[in-house]
Amino acid sequence: MAKFKRVLLKLSGESLMGTKSFGIDPEIVEHIASEISSVSKMGIEIGIVIGGGNIYHGLSASKQGVDRVTGDMMGMLATVINSLAIQNALESKKINTRVQSAIKMDEICEPLIIRRAVRHLEKKRIVVFASGTGEPYFTTDTAAALRAVEIKADVIIKGTRVDGVYDSDPEKNENAKMFRKLSYKEALIRNLRIMDLTAITLCSENLLPIIVFNMNRKGNLKKLISGQNVGTIIS
Ligand code: UDP
Repeated sequence: MAKFKRVLLKLSGESLMGTKSFGIDPEIVEHIASEISSVSKMGIEIGIVIGGGNIYHGLSASKQGVDRVTGDMMGMLATVINSLAIQNALESKKINTRVQSAIKMDEICEPLIIRRAVRHLEKKRIVVFASGTGEPYFTTDTAAALRAVEIKADVIIKGTRVDGVYDSDPEKNENAKMFRKLSYKEALIRNLRIMDLTAITLCSENLLPIIVFNMNRKGNLKKLISGQNVGTIIS
């Protein structure tokens, strides 16, 4: 029995890079698609928000002289490229997938219409929400929190390359301790960099639980959805 009925999965753009330093690694996209397809086959309704940092990062670009608003628009376009890559990988596994963009691009994907997205979910189609919030100065974490609240997801699941939330960076400190449970308040006060403050605040105000887990481990997403003790829960 699954623990959740409708989930919003957030993946960073960097998670698509694999061992590369830029862009999209087809092997990783294939892995992600098979993990998602295994839970989709359980009848779970899945929305996805994917970042763009593997292609373009507005804030970093602005430090190199690119106008921030322009850079952010470029970053949002990068999320569309990633969304199409995920859609393509899911559809090659015969999982019906729709991309909806917060910035209209009718020749490429559907416009963002929440009621329509919910209808797709009810029909067990996966919906990938592209272009972040559609506004500069936001992140795709905030977009993920916003879409999760809008589609009334039971939980927002953040896939990372580590097992959960730690008290220090586990890739640098081998004694880093992982938390199993945290409150929103602890997450905010300790500044654990789970998501940006806007995103956490939005989750907290709407009592939307966040689970941070390792997306690279095979079968982990299915375990999480089945209610096994995987990752860190912030609630
Ligand atoms: N972005 C934006 N508004 C949004 C979401 C994203 O302007 O609502 C831009 C911003 O420039 C950001 C880039 O898109 O740097 C990529 O998104 P993000 O950094 O969240 O991706 P991730 O770090 O998850 O790969």
